[in-house]
Amino acid sequence: MWVAALLLALWAPAAWAAARLPDVLDARVTTTPERARLIVDLTGTTEFAIASLDAPERIAIDIKAQTVAISSPGAVSGSGLVSAFDTVMAEDGRARTELTLAQPAVVQQAYVLDPIGGQPARLIVDLIPTSDADFKQRAAADLARAMGGADPDPASSEAPAAPASAASSSVAAVTPPPAAVAVPLRPSVPATGGSRPLIVLDPGHGGIDNGASAPNGIHEKDITLAFALQLRDLLVGTGLFDVAMTRDDDTYLTLNERVDLARQNKADLFISLHADTFQEADIRGASIYTRDARATDILDKVLADGENHADIVAGYLQPDTKPAAVEMLVDLMRRQVRQQSYLAAQDIVNAMQPSVALRRFPLRQADFFVLQAPDVPSMLIELGFMSNNADIANLENVDWRNKVVNAIAAGVQRYFKDIGSDLGAPLTAASGG
Ligand SMILES: [Zn+2]
Repeated sequence: MWVAALLLALWAPAAWAAARLPDVLDARVTTTPERARLIVDLTGTTEFAIASLDAPERIAIDIKAQTVAISSPGAVSGSGLVSAFDTVMAEDGRARTELTLAQPAVVQQAYVLDPIGGQPARLIVDLIPTSDADFKQRAAADLARAMGGADPDPASSEAPAAPASAASSSVAAVTPPPAAVAVPLRPSVPATGGSRPLIVLDPGHGGIDNGASAPNGIHEKDITLAFALQLRDLLVGTGLFDVAMTRDDDTYLTLNERVDLARQNKADLFISLHADTFQEADIRGASIYTRDARATDILDKVLADGENHADIVAGYLQPDTKPAAVEMLVDLMRRQVRQQSYLAAQDIVNAMQPSVALRRFPLRQADFFVLQAPDVPSMLIELGFMSNNADIANLENVDWRNKVVNAIAAGVQRYFKDIGSDLGAPLTAASGG
């Protein structure tokens, strides 16, 4: 359904004629047999539409743009779904990237990211394999849609995603769905003008990245998602918070994307959930990490390094784009956010203490990449370790999950009271920690 909606993300001619459009700076494709990703660098955010084209099998991405600063077809990095790609100006105001497929594929997700941390605005399109029959059906539907309505112009079949043909088709009036604009997050409750704190929950791993696995075949990615979904429902149910998820299904996101989503949505609290393996099998219990690049515990460092390499495992390492010199303003912000992160982690540990088995010294620091946002209080909760049999039993136990989720929700409420947020409940004096 999601992808079907995406294909209707066509634009109206009125908006088409607006101010100067962004330029396409660069386009890159990374592919494996299981997954491919197109990244288009832009001078600003824009709108796009996607169509499947048959004979030969291609995916076309039309982008509202002024110019294309690429002179020759790009080289695909890796081998698998996509065999070649090219980006050209298809007509005035419309660039087109065409991905030539080595096997049938479908768009799993597509979105535009705002410029951030020295990186330009980017259009991201992820492909996953599909069946031959499914591809042919999609291509036929896209062609019919482009040819539909009162526009029998044969040229439309050459450009199914073109705004000219779409404008007169039966779907031209469809408003682009949220999936096609800057923020791919799906808040569980509608925004209410920012009166409630926004909590972003980040179930660790997902998609081709399973995370840790138990001997019985259960994956960390499924455990973290189950906990996160239940926690979301509980937090939303209090009526005190807005909650958004970095993923609410079995989707792969890079660590950068998880951080970017929290920052772009100006989250008030970011909670990443994990259940990793630890170097020593007898280490067990829940623990909460906040970020400290200078943390010294060597086993915690091994743990964080393993997490930070999740993107390499999945084949999508992005360069670290932190500026060489950290501005003083950012440094001040970072310090305050670090204190808030620590306070929030402490409140959750305190709430867990009575009912949940905690690791010795449960409040810990390590250099987790996913906690790097300088402006969002962030923590990573290790619910337990998949390297310990007692923890595995707990992680798969519904009663234990209920206890943990209830405790985290209670700790979150405590934290927002501590920092003086008006949650509609009596405020208590802020504690110094
Ligand atoms: Zn993990």
